[in-house]
Amino acid sequence: MRILVIEDERKVASFIQRGLEEERYIVETAPDGEAGLELALNNHFDAIVLDVMLPKLDGYSVLSTIRDSGNTTPVLMLTARGTTEDRVQGLDLGADDYLPKPFHFEELAARLRSILRRSAPEKSTKLHCGDLVLDMVTHFAFRNDKEIELTTKEYALLEYLMRNKDRILSRSMIMQHVWKHNFDPESNIIDVYIKRLRSKVERPDGPTLIHSVRGVGYRMRDTPMPEDGDGDTDES
Ligand code: CA
Repeated sequence: MRILVIEDERKVASFIQRGLEEERYIVETAPDGEAGLELALNNHFDAIVLDVMLPKLDGYSVLSTIRDSGNTTPVLMLTARGTTEDRVQGLDLGADDYLPKPFHFEELAARLRSILRRSAPEKSTKLHCGDLVLDMVTHFAFRNDKEIELTTKEYALLEYLMRNKDRILSRSMIMQHVWKHNFDPESNIIDVYIKRLRSKVERPDGPTLIHSVRGVGYRMRDTPMPEDGDGDTDES
């Protein structure tokens, strides 16, 4: 999942970024309110961590502009100001949760998981496709009870595919959800990662799970197609 961190204190921003990357999130950071708002309005993020005291545009203004645009991305607000009035203001403007500084990273991570779960259509912490299981808390994948080790990017890609099981996902949708916003859309990086993921996830004796949709992108499904076998079924 892709998270935007809008925080001007460089140390805090990199502390959050490092921690979240260890938890397998794809993280982008913005150093002020204007840059953060621009990123939030023009890209897909699964959640936003938003500081209140920011240069150029404060966190409340960023939040209200995001919500006024109809964008409902979950927002976790961070602030040193812990008064009730400030908390109420953030929540009234459409923040999903509120964390006073200083905080322990574990608490930020737990609150983030909680707002992400609330916004997800399914509340389970595990995703299934056939006999493949992805545990979103431990970040382990299992097929037929055998553990599969995934890198951060492979995990993010597999999670996005599995969350959208049975849906055809175009390369640009995958790019927007799993890669950072400044990535070259012409690159063949997605196909490279799909190939790696297939080598880890697919089994010669099991049904193909990751299907190519020619000219469009990919689809994850566990119902076998008649012409299945090599994972390159043309579904177009
Ligand atoms: Ca600040």
